[in-house]
Amino acid sequence: MFAVTILGNNSAIPTLDRHPTAQVVTCNEQLLLVDCGEGTQLQITQYRIRRSKLRYIFISHLHGDHYFGLIGLINTLNLMGRTEPLSVYAPPELEQIIQLQLDCSGTILKFELSFVPLLPGYSGLILEDKDLRVSCFPTQHRISCFGFSIEMQKRKRKLIPEQAKAYEIPAAYFSKLQEGADYQRKDGSIIKNDWVTLSPGKAKRYVYCADTIYDVNLLPWLKDADMMYHETTYLHDLEDRAAERYHSTTVQAASLAAAAGVKKLLIGHFSSKYTELQPFLDESRPVFANTDIAEEGVSYIV
Ligand SMILES: [Zn+2]
Repeated sequence: MFAVTILGNNSAIPTLDRHPTAQVVTCNEQLLLVDCGEGTQLQITQYRIRRSKLRYIFISHLHGDHYFGLIGLINTLNLMGRTEPLSVYAPPELEQIIQLQLDCSGTILKFELSFVPLLPGYSGLILEDKDLRVSCFPTQHRISCFGFSIEMQKRKRKLIPEQAKAYEIPAAYFSKLQEGADYQRKDGSIIKNDWVTLSPGKAKRYVYCADTIYDVNLLPWLKDADMMYHETTYLHDLEDRAAERYHSTTVQAASLAAAAGVKKLLIGHFSSKYTELQPFLDESRPVFANTDIAEEGVSYIV
């Protein structure tokens, strides 16, 4: 299972029906939170996300609409008796901000909270475990800002059930086959794994582009991604305003998706001035057909 659930799709000012940026990435049994705008913990409750499974949090940059929900979430996890460690990957100043809030309220955490600083301009691998690999890359925004590339580690091999049955392999052994094991029959003969399974194919990859101006320098990070999220704060007619404020438009995001050859584009971070989101799709799809609005509460399979 590799999916992205949208918790917030709005930019700076929250509205009653759209929240600031936050996304949950489900990678097998693990949950990752990408950005944590104000109200994220309520969205987590609303959409029944299992917060106890949350292990890693990635914060793209320190504009408030991307992290103001973090202290609230941490406090709630503590009140609920969390003991498992939690790692936050973020610009270095965030550690001081959170620590000050904890100190001033005399809060002592019952779980280990660690910060991994993302230094300005850094790109490369920041996390690798049995399920996933995460890299970060700088985007061009008003302050230091990062995108994240999340790759699901090797998936299980695909079983060919007819073949496995033809070789009389018991169904109880199928999960071992999917993990790559050969099968030994009672007479000692070996059934090779690749006679009964297919390769799992390329690892799937989701790229989150955070807040950014239109920037072709991002292309190497986006190339051939299975799904990409790109902000579209503004519609096409406000291209100049987007550039001034280091944001992007529909046509820009869709052009980048087309140039990168990604399979799917999710758009979000909509300016609060817009009440209707349909025009965002109407402008993006002619440039890149497989575009969807990042809708709150919806999970998109990578
Ligand atoms: Zn921003």
